[in-house]
Amino acid sequence: MISISSIREYMFCPRKFYLRNNLDKESEENVFLNKRLKQIRIDVFDLIQRNVRGLKVEMSLFDIRSHLKRTIKEVLDSSLSFLKEQYNIGDEIDKIRAEIINESCFIIDILSLKSLKAMQSLESDGQKIAEIFFPTSMYSYLIRDQNLEIIGSCDKIEIIDGRYYPINIKTSNPPVAGVWDSDAIELVANAMLIEQEFDSEVFVGFIDYVKICERRPVVMDSKLRKGLFKVLHEINEIMDGDLIPETKYVLKKCESCYYNKLCNMNEEDYPENVLY
Ligand code: SF4
Repeated sequence: MISISSIREYMFCPRKFYLRNNLDKESEENVFLNKRLKQIRIDVFDLIQRNVRGLKVEMSLFDIRSHLKRTIKEVLDSSLSFLKEQYNIGDEIDKIRAEIINESCFIIDILSLKSLKAMQSLESDGQKIAEIFFPTSMYSYLIRDQNLEIIGSCDKIEIIDGRYYPINIKTSNPPVAGVWDSDAIELVANAMLIEQEFDSEVFVGFIDYVKICERRPVVMDSKLRKGLFKVLHEINEIMDGDLIPETKYVLKKCESCYYNKLCNMNEEDYPENVLY
């Protein structure tokens, strides 16, 4: 059974996936920590959305903004203090907190303007606006499929007119256009799990790039589906020890990678044409 997080890790760097699976237990903690941080972000964004329901049509932009911020810091602080106790991240916690607060403030600023405009145009309170902005959704819904041999949860599944739309939330920088291949492969894995679970075809999913507060579509075509099967095949080979992926130096990825030394990948060791 291959987890969606393995697919994500493989797409980031096959070599890293190999090393973590074969050599190292310590970095497993980092995987769990990142999962927890992602869940905290999802909880905070969900709280902002729920706060929209309490908006009133007569509110000013300032009042809307204050209302959307309600209890966010308290929820965030209690989640992070729990995390701090579980993992040894005392030094990093302030930086993590500041990052999540910044992301949340950006989302709140945009959502405040949208909500004000929508309430004024429709002469409706936040309850009605929230129904328009945020369709019925399931969060972090875990699905296991024996046929596909994949297990994993989608950050969010929106349900509109009986159709299911997988949404993954990304805090990384987005590409200039479209989505990263790695994000598309992860999303199609979610889409295929949803199809099996709910017996309903998924035609399109979305990546929410929270840094720029933008949702980008991904069409679940046959090319993408075939791409996923190729990835699953290679992951299986790595897990069975039949494949050792080659290292490929990508400056941005490798300079901060936990395995940098293990890969013996100092910049000077590499010919110019593999540096990009
Ligand atoms: S140093 Fe680079 S090539 Fe090696 S595992 Fe990390 S990201 Fe992959």
